[in-house]
Amino acid sequence: MAANLSPCERCGACCATFRVDFSIMETQAGGGAVPNGLALPVTARTCRLRGTDHLPPRCAALSGRVGERVACSIYEWRPSPCREFSEGSDACAQARRRHRLEPLMV
Ligand code: SF4
Ligand code: SF4
Repeated sequence: MAANLSPCERCGACCATFRVDFSIMETQAGGGAVPNGLALPVTARTCRLRGTDHLPPRCAALSGRVGERVACSIYEWRPSPCREFSEGSDACAQARRRHRLEPLMV
């Protein structure tokens, strides 16, 4: 069963490494899809995924264990930085290193 998981489903490091900011327009309150309860206001125009500025960071929408098996509880409604994050990118490798995971070979 676990063999069918994608690399990201077995990782989650980026969701527990970076601060994730996005436009307030992406929240439900702003007419978008990101649940209001997960978006903390930062400025009049931007907000931040809850938990991503904690020490250590971890998005409140992430479930499971990083490096083993994870899931995003708002996958369909996640904000643009999450949608645009590239598996196999330098930032991906950075996040994985932080969690003592080897970079993906893509
Ligand atoms: S750090 Fe890379 S491999 Fe891990 S979940 Fe994020 S994009 Fe996927
Ligand atoms: S919303 Fe989902 S994809 Fe984005 S950081 Fe949180 S857990 Fe990761």
